[in-house]
Amino acid sequence: MGKIIDGRQIALAINDKVRRGIQHIQDVSGRPPKLVSILLGTRSDAQIYVNMQKKSAAQVGIDFDSRVLEESTTSEQLLDQIRRLNENNAVSAIIVQKPLPEGIQHDSIVASMLAEKDAEGIHPLNLGKILRKEADIVPCTPGAVMKILNMQGVDLYGKEVVIIGHSAIVGKPLSMMMLNEMATVTVCHIGTYEKGDIKAHARKADVLVVAVGKAQMVKSDWIKEGCAVIDVGINRTDKGIVGDVDFEDVKDKASFITPVPGGVGPVTVSILMRNVFRAYRRQNS
Ligand code: NAD
Repeated sequence: MGKIIDGRQIALAINDKVRRGIQHIQDVSGRPPKLVSILLGTRSDAQIYVNMQKKSAAQVGIDFDSRVLEESTTSEQLLDQIRRLNENNAVSAIIVQKPLPEGIQHDSIVASMLAEKDAEGIHPLNLGKILRKEADIVPCTPGAVMKILNMQGVDLYGKEVVIIGHSAIVGKPLSMMMLNEMATVTVCHIGTYEKGDIKAHARKADVLVVAVGKAQMVKSDWIKEGCAVIDVGINRTDKGIVGDVDFEDVKDKASFITPVPGGVGPVTVSILMRNVFRAYRRQNS
């Protein structure tokens, strides 16, 4: 049976390192990092993520300032809030929680932040830096995938990597981060699926990353023996939360596999904390 990755354990290890890094700077600066979270409305699923972030922040010593604004908040009002947070030296980093009400573009709100306060690593400047292998603050989920592979001792040099999903927050930046490590990267998406080629691509993978949002789409006949499988998907079903990979079907064929829940998710939150630490470190250097 393939090894089952314990994402919670990895998250604890990252958090421990982040906590020590923060302590070191705080001893000199006298002030902890501050992460401001902005949530519009009171959607319970978004609130779950905010609570996870809050818990992780407490573990590492980040002052988590959770702000809940009216769902009727306008783009202009939100942009005004961001402008004030940009100017506030006591604020290390900002996260605007998704989903936002219709009519407010998350991308343009993020673009209005100072890139050095972008907790999620998705500001255009931070995304662009990935191309030049200069990114310090990285998109959280791709950062989590890279960390998981690194902690399993996977050297990506020359490896066949297949990423299913090409979103701007997962597949695209991850493909570039893996190219930076000299992997041979194939990115598949709905077009690949509709053309009927997706299994043939997936079967070539030494490392398969799935970030689609389709419950248990990937079966054992999609992977080759010994493939490392990273499941990013989070799907709510009648049976609870499941990934994009059919875990029971695939686990015996994989060299290792990340479960859902308890795999990529917790590591993603700790990479968010690492980003806040890096923002704070830069602002205090
Ligand atoms: P998205 O909707 O922005 O993108 C989905 C991608 O999947 C697109 O590239 C699309 O072309 C592709 N796709 C859709 N149907 C497909 C099919 N049948 N075959 C192949 N490709 C197909 O999604 P996203 O924001 O990248 O999120 C993807 C999944 O990852 C979701 O389940 C989301 O909840 C989850 N997610 C998890 C984390 C985490 O921390 N674990 C973070 C972000 C997203």
